[in-house]
Amino acid sequence: MSPDSEFVFELGVCGWAERNWPPDGDLDPDTAAIVARQLGTRYRRWDTVIIKADREALAQRARFGTRALDSDLLRVVENAPESWTWYRDALPEPDFPWRYVREAVHRAAGRGIVETRRQNNRIELRRKWRYPNWIERIVAIENKPDLDASAARALAGQIERDVALALCDEVWVATASTEHSIEPVLLEDFPVEAGVLVVDTDADDAASVAWHPRTLAAAEAGTRITDRASGDEGAATVEFADPDWKAEKRLAIAERAYERGWRSYADTMRPDCRHFELRESGRTALPWCAAKEKHQSAAECAGSCPKFEPEPPTWRSHGWPIEGGPGKAIQRLLDDRRERQRPGE
Ligand code: SF4
Repeated sequence: MSPDSEFVFELGVCGWAERNWPPDGDLDPDTAAIVARQLGTRYRRWDTVIIKADREALAQRARFGTRALDSDLLRVVENAPESWTWYRDALPEPDFPWRYVREAVHRAAGRGIVETRRQNNRIELRRKWRYPNWIERIVAIENKPDLDASAARALAGQIERDVALALCDEVWVATASTEHSIEPVLLEDFPVEAGVLVVDTDADDAASVAWHPRTLAAAEAGTRITDRASGDEGAATVEFADPDWKAEKRLAIAERAYERGWRSYADTMRPDCRHFELRESGRTALPWCAAKEKHQSAAECAGSCPKFEPEPPTWRSHGWPIEGGPGKAIQRLLDDRRERQRPGE
């Protein structure tokens, strides 16, 4: 399968997960699943990320707006006290200059998520709401539609790193369903902790579990394998990842997932091209290029695409008078779907 098809498979898995997670049962009615793509840390980015969240806590999170809170804003909202307090007394001592904290306090006030006032020439703050503990579980999925022996081998080292770090609670590899079942030998290279999922992103909208994952110790210290020497004798270089670092990264991933969902691909593609369409593939609406007559990838659907043609200006004046042409309408449609699918609001 070409990299283009991998992109399409990835979107298909995201759409499937949004409708069907978990693959082997029903979601607890008190739990919501938020699906996002291409999220992670500086060291690792996962294709599909699912945040399982407590619905009630998520409704409280929704008060802070749909935009992600970065680590500076989180420091403010998590520590903002109930009553007016000088910000330096309220917030933990940073290991960087206080002026950055002050900027974050102003930013938080600008977004309406804390209150501030100036008292005796000091900036005081107090919280509007308590920032909730809304994340129950983080699931990472690596999509590999063609899982043959060499793909499995190539992926195994990466999955091993994911398991050792245990930043997520579950790690899966998702592959496309074919008429052949998965050869058990393919799974031998994967750590036993990683699950393997066979997904039919076409008409059936079905999936089966080829291997169940084990829950990783996400709340405990993990190991970051930074360099793996080849051969049995070689030693890997490892770094220690402490629980606080992991908790901070998990929250940052969840916040970005909450903001972006998985439909934000349109932000980096060219829906303003006259050939850009959305077409159903299975039960998921995916980008379709009318000029190339196929689902195009994000990489090829760029300003450098030789077939790119801007929407004719007349498209923008007939029935699209103010809000832009069909490209803008597609973006709005995807945004609307993202908003509709964002639970807790
Ligand atoms: S022609 Fe190129 S830019 Fe236009 S929709 Fe197709 S892939 Fe995207």
